[in-house]
Amino acid sequence: MKLIFETGVPGRRGSSLPAVAADSRCGIAADLMRSQAAELPEVSELDAVRHFTALARMNYSVDGGFYPLGSCTMKYNPKFHEKLAALSGFAELHPLLPQLRHGGALTQGALEVIFETQRLLSELTGFSEFTMQPMAGAHGELTGVMIIAAYHRHRGDSARRVMLIPDAAHGTNPASASMAGFEIKEVATDADGNVDLDDLASKLGPDVAGFMLTCPNTLGLFDPHVEKIVEMVHAAGALAYCDGANFNAIMGRVRPGDVGFDVMHLNLHKSFSTPHGGGGPGSGPVGVREDLRMFLPVSRVMKRSDGTYALSYQGDESIGYVAPFYGNFGVIVKAYAYLLTLGRDGVTRVGENAVINANYVLAKLRDAYPPKYPRHCMHECVLSAAGMAAAHGVHALDVSKALIDRGIHPPTMYFPMIVPEALMVEPTETESKDTLDEFIAAMLDIAKQAETSPESLHAAPVTAPVGRLDETAAARKPELKF
Ligand SMILES: *Cc1c(COP(=O)(O)O)cnc(C)c1O
Repeated sequence: MKLIFETGVPGRRGSSLPAVAADSRCGIAADLMRSQAAELPEVSELDAVRHFTALARMNYSVDGGFYPLGSCTMKYNPKFHEKLAALSGFAELHPLLPQLRHGGALTQGALEVIFETQRLLSELTGFSEFTMQPMAGAHGELTGVMIIAAYHRHRGDSARRVMLIPDAAHGTNPASASMAGFEIKEVATDADGNVDLDDLASKLGPDVAGFMLTCPNTLGLFDPHVEKIVEMVHAAGALAYCDGANFNAIMGRVRPGDVGFDVMHLNLHKSFSTPHGGGGPGSGPVGVREDLRMFLPVSRVMKRSDGTYALSYQGDESIGYVAPFYGNFGVIVKAYAYLLTLGRDGVTRVGENAVINANYVLAKLRDAYPPKYPRHCMHECVLSAAGMAAAHGVHALDVSKALIDRGIHPPTMYFPMIVPEALMVEPTETESKDTLDEFIAAMLDIAKQAETSPESLHAAPVTAPVGRLDETAAARKPELKF
């Protein structure tokens, strides 16, 4: 494929603009004028279109193929919801339009969508109220731990400086808690992949503000002691935070509020009809139990006794603003549409199918890639290439690269960090058995290749535009130009 920077013919043009006199500045200040022409490829419109189309084709997408990236819930989401979010009454609404009276007729519908979505999420999770403001999962975590800090401050308890976080947690958990000013202490995972209760007990004390637990956890496992854990946390005077990024697995079945959690965030851009990845937009609403409502950020959408909606900025105890205006409103519209389309039964089926699909993959691949914790999984399974690495020198990275050559996006790898050579597969509920079988066949084929010609796997990928990259340098010192 030729990129336009490499083509270009002097004098070729993609536009026809009226000629201007050579000395005309078109009203541009002299010191802003270029002294020399920019060094740009000279191409036709067709060259430019082909350039960008070729780049777009190099992008792997859920629309293009299976995308089993664990912890990311890369499911297919209905295109219809994109259409709803793009309706001009939503997409072109100015955030400064008045809520009531002059112009209020234009904003009432949007406020209703926010109010109703937070109400549906509250019902689905068992919390009193949600703030729809945070714009990512990590942003929701930060909001949630700030609420925990506000709760202890309000009680006049300034000794609680520590946030406990399992060693299996997503990296955003310690990052968010640390940004909110907490000291992080790690809690170990036991031999079955659950929270190590003895370790938790030994770390709970009068200095602990809260415990952040991902439920189901990042190993794709549901911790059967979750109620006990919440009890222990409460007995120590701390609050229990639920990282709900994995809610896809349990929605409609388990309400974290009923389990006893005090605060929770959801990832609308995983579980509720917005694709994850690609840098956004996201939405990480936070739900709280009744007596924490006063700490929620402003503004909050209220329903008045006359049935109209308005933003409330009241609350001396509020943690204040966490985002401008209404959060990522378009993402909220899609979540609302998703919930209304599926209804109560549909939401439950989403979770069930996600779990069945992951367990099918696990059952077929557990011999070739033995998991560290051999239990039934929830919506994702964490396999391991540790045996393959020891026997044949073929690592999780090699397996991932070999999948690229077979046209499949690699799973998440080397996470959670407590699983050596981890390959974390999240098939999601939207994939058919045929697609899962193709993936399983590819994984088994790679396992066989690891035995017969391990060297060849070190060369993968050979079909991609680029081979092995220095991934650290690519992230830290990206070269963004030719
Ligand atoms: C994705 C994820 C997050 C963070 O969500 P972002 O929107 O990417 O910030 C937090 N915790 C878990 C378990 C996740 O999977």
